[in-house]
Amino acid sequence: MASYDVIVIGSGPGGYVCAIRCAQLGLKTACVEGRDTLGGTCLNVGCIPSKALLHASHQLHEAQHNFEKMGLKGKPPSVDWTQMLSYKDEVIGQNTKGIEFLFKKNKIDWLKGWGSIPEAGLVKVGDETHKAKHIVIASGSEASSLPGIEIDEKTIVTSTGALALPKVPKKMIVIGAGVIGLELGSVYARLGAEVTVLEYLDQITPGIDTEVARSFRALLKKQGLNIVTGAAVQSAEALKTKAKVTYKLRKDDSEHQIDADVVLVATGRKPYTDKLGLDALGVEMTKRGQIATDAHYNTSVDGIHAIGDVIEGPMLAHKAEDEGMAVAEILAGQAGHVNYDVIPGVIYTHPEVASVGQTEDQLKEAGRAYKVGKFSFMGNGRAKANFAADGFVKILVDAETDRILGAHILGPSAGDLIHEICVAMEFGAAAEDIARTCHAHPTYSEAVREAALACGDGAIHS
Ligand code: FAD
Repeated sequence: MASYDVIVIGSGPGGYVCAIRCAQLGLKTACVEGRDTLGGTCLNVGCIPSKALLHASHQLHEAQHNFEKMGLKGKPPSVDWTQMLSYKDEVIGQNTKGIEFLFKKNKIDWLKGWGSIPEAGLVKVGDETHKAKHIVIASGSEASSLPGIEIDEKTIVTSTGALALPKVPKKMIVIGAGVIGLELGSVYARLGAEVTVLEYLDQITPGIDTEVARSFRALLKKQGLNIVTGAAVQSAEALKTKAKVTYKLRKDDSEHQIDADVVLVATGRKPYTDKLGLDALGVEMTKRGQIATDAHYNTSVDGIHAIGDVIEGPMLAHKAEDEGMAVAEILAGQAGHVNYDVIPGVIYTHPEVASVGQTEDQLKEAGRAYKVGKFSFMGNGRAKANFAADGFVKILVDAETDRILGAHILGPSAGDLIHEICVAMEFGAAAEDIARTCHAHPTYSEAVREAALACGDGAIHS
């Protein structure tokens, strides 16, 4: 029976980062993974493959729409779907192999197979049982569907099936206008599919600043996505070669039917705890099926901790990573901590959407006195040169102190630009701090500075 300081169950961004940090801090560490490759949902069927397809489909869009304007002549490329999938798989392989390399480098044992916890201090993998002073559960999440909708991963698919369709569908229905639905919907729209997105709520991307969500919706419409909000899906049925979706419009209860070659159900994800044996251990769960933890990632059972998608909070890879580092530091006797007020959220469409901190809607609801600084990418020279002038930066600050409370960006590289604001918020900065910082010209980041200037005496280029 091998003995470890820490055994991590699951090798997604939460688990593998936790394992590496534990090893770096001198703890003897193993990580259990049931998949054939390391990296979890994120590297295998999530963040990374979706971004590869977003990148490829964006290149096609550029070639079709912008190359000629720049004097780049020739036939626009056509889609070789098999090759595009190979490219995606190669990207996945490079990333998952990278984690294997890091495990070897940090002397972390990969225990291959599905792990369970027969009792605190023990982890069973296959026929072997291993001892651990601490067990960290990082078993992640799985796609959830709607009642009555059967996923076959062929015609009615989750994101996992949507990342490996045998061909680009002519018609696709996406149920759910959240991050995953819109990212994958926009991939297929750019590859030529006629895409209809059905959303139950009256707004797309729930939780995003309303003004940003409205502008984002208008841009997606311009790109050819047909978005129906207030649509309560009643059923989705796989027929011989097609699928049929029935929905009711909530405003008038009228019933509608549409068909498509593929239906992507993107209605959210749920924590994954199968196979762990948590019931028998008496690990306390939340009402939503997550593992309940305290502020130090302790579960209700001594020596068992949990992080990532399987616990409360936004289901994001970087949130899982931060928790992985924090719990490792705590187990090593340090003061691990995650600031949940500064966790950015990004939608990797073109343009991207990124946000951090409070939305204007939240500030209004809280009755907080705030000021808004806004700047359109139309006033940004670099964005204009790159055909990327759609969108804006919006910074929200305390009306009295000018301290940054939140920021919302719709525009080019928004997912990178947001981090200037994240760092500023971590330091408790005011918009003036950003406004007085010299920003290189010409960069998209000048739009962030201009929005910060707009919180005070005014932007220069608007
Ligand atoms: P996971 O990544 O889910 O990893 C858990 C691992 O544990 C899995 O590999 C599983 O096989 C293993 N496991 C579970 N139980 C056991 C067991 N009993 N024994 C052994 N192994 C076990 N987030 C972002 O931040 N940015 C994005 O761009 C983004 N894009 C996404 C796109 C898609 C299509 C999807 C589906 C998700 C996306 N996400 C994104 C979300 C992100 O993937 C998750 O938040 C993240 O992977 C959670 O990490 P985790 O470590 O908690 O769990």
